[in-house]
Amino acid sequence: MNASDRIICAIDTSDLEEALLLAELLSGEVGALKIGKEFFTAHGPAGLGRVAERNHRIFLDLKFHDIPNTVAGAVRSAAALGCWMLTVHASGGGEMLKAAVDAAAGSPRIFAVTVLTSLDDRDLAAVGQSAPAADQVMRLARLAESAGLDGAVCSPREAAMLRSALPAEFELVVPGVRPFRADAGDQKRAATPGEAVAAGADRLVVGRPITRSDDPAGAARRIASEIAEALAP
Ligand code: C5P
Repeated sequence: MNASDRIICAIDTSDLEEALLLAELLSGEVGALKIGKEFFTAHGPAGLGRVAERNHRIFLDLKFHDIPNTVAGAVRSAAALGCWMLTVHASGGGEMLKAAVDAAAGSPRIFAVTVLTSLDDRDLAAVGQSAPAADQVMRLARLAESAGLDGAVCSPREAAMLRSALPAEFELVVPGVRPFRADAGDQKRAATPGEAVAAGADRLVVGRPITRSDDPAGAARRIASEIAEALAP
């Protein structure tokens, strides 16, 4: 996998023209585009298709979480759209995770969301989870791996812990990446691309450092060269 393949650019907008322009500019510069609830709720499968048409694999980040039968149906619908990877909540349980894997039958690739990074130990206690967040992340990642998922989404802080506990084929997808510390913005726990890869991230989700740049393709190339440098022997 080359360095630019490791970059997933998050298209967080409800503006179709903006999304299509970014898809155009980033063609051949990143490994995939991540489409989430904001864009998909506004533009649906038709909008997704128009983005994908500009030569992109699609990571559909809708974080499915429902009874196994419903999640299996949603995964089949995502497969019919030609998605390359998608997310489900690992807290939906082992049976739901296995149903997602079976429904995908290899494509799309299924990734687990463990504990949302917006939740701290107190928030977890308030919903009845007494374990520290890190323990819960570990438990859910193991559950996802044993159910046959392709990997998990995790913060840069969790990457090293998960990398050392899980097999190398279980891919870690890491958001919260900032090429320059000064641009961290609302990503309080940001890591640089080099740090994230060194901690064991296989793929990086990068949004605003690319999408808000005057030169998105150039920004993606600079991130790719930082990744390549961190991976160089
Ligand atoms: O613009 P930025 O690089 O912060 O975008 C990061 C993307 O990754 C967004 O789509 C955000 O929702 C997602 N994400 C995140 N932190 C998490 C999980 C997902 O920033 N813990």
